[in-house]
Amino acid sequence: MTAPLHEDRPAGPGRALPDTQQGMRRRNLARVLHAVRAEGPLSRAAVASRIGLTRAAVSTLVDELIRSGLLEELGPERPGRVGRPGSALALSGRGPAGIGAEIGVDHLAVCAVDLRGTTRSRAIRQGANRGRSPGPVLAELTELIRRVVAEAEGEGLWPAGLAVAVPGLVARDARTVVRAPNLDWHEADLGDLLPADFPLTVDNEANFGALAELWLGDGTPRDFLHVSAEIGIGAAVVVDGGLLRGTRGFAGELGHVPVQPDGPECACGGRGCLEQYAGEEAVLRAAGLEPDEDRVGLLAGRAAEGDEDVRRALRDAGTALGVALTGAVNLLDPQSVVLGGELSGLAPWLLPSLRDELARRTAGPACPVSVSRLGPQGPLLGAAHSVVRAVLDDPATVAERA
Ligand SMILES: [Zn+2]
Repeated sequence: MTAPLHEDRPAGPGRALPDTQQGMRRRNLARVLHAVRAEGPLSRAAVASRIGLTRAAVSTLVDELIRSGLLEELGPERPGRVGRPGSALALSGRGPAGIGAEIGVDHLAVCAVDLRGTTRSRAIRQGANRGRSPGPVLAELTELIRRVVAEAEGEGLWPAGLAVAVPGLVARDARTVVRAPNLDWHEADLGDLLPADFPLTVDNEANFGALAELWLGDGTPRDFLHVSAEIGIGAAVVVDGGLLRGTRGFAGELGHVPVQPDGPECACGGRGCLEQYAGEEAVLRAAGLEPDEDRVGLLAGRAAEGDEDVRRALRDAGTALGVALTGAVNLLDPQSVVLGGELSGLAPWLLPSLRDELARRTAGPACPVSVSRLGPQGPLLGAAHSVVRAVLDDPATVAERA
């Protein structure tokens, strides 16, 4: 019996492989790669027994994957075993790489991740992006991308694609930012402003954060709600190992769920949205603090020192999060709620009131709430890993380009 090999869908538009001989070959290439990823290093014979193909068929597939730079041979297996020693196969540390990028309200970040999932190069630039137009921000991001790609190429890797996480709504074309209120961007086509040398996918940072949690988290279930925040609050719904995107791709706007129908006005045009109570700036205001570059650091530092105003503001933010999440939990019945992104740094002070509220208001047993160990790295890692996953799911597309 073989394990299911192809369950996590890539962030980009899903491609169903045709049921032809070519389609079969492509699926089998993916099955070989997934077997080696899950259990490698493995010999050809071990791969054949894992995926239920003949040794000869697997050898042909493996040779193609080695030629394309996706697999590498580590040399003979341990001596002392019966029969001719087979060479152990591993995912290549020199083949295609996923380039992930993140446009934050206060920073830009880029990284390169190899097929084994190891981050090989990384660049970060701090600086406010709010109110700047997309052109100059993406020019800076392009510079970071070029730097990271050059460093990865120096190690024998080549970029298989670029995925960009943005704090805003992204159209189904996976390149147009429809609205990013905290950057003040509207209808910005990032595809026109980024390097055209490799395939591009743009997605909401909350979606990439949730995918990172699904792929890299500790025992993350296949049905969960992922909540993350910077200045805005985003959420992503993962159902059976895939993102629930909604008709237009805008699902997950938890930050604009009303928690007080007649509360303060919000940038979205509504009133009393969660963001007005639990967004980082709202919490700073409630605690009587001035906005700072390092908002989470400031709040966490004061809360740890025992500042009662800050602790109360965070308790209230936790309650507001609990109220908004109650609606989502009652509607979707997820296995768990995961707090990720910058929010994870404030979890010790948010969680008690959030859990109370959720337990008090949900219809069934209380939904467990956990904290992501990826923290603020989630969206960037999710972006880079989405490119790697797409390669593992359909290696033929890059094998043809290699
Ligand atoms: Zn709103």
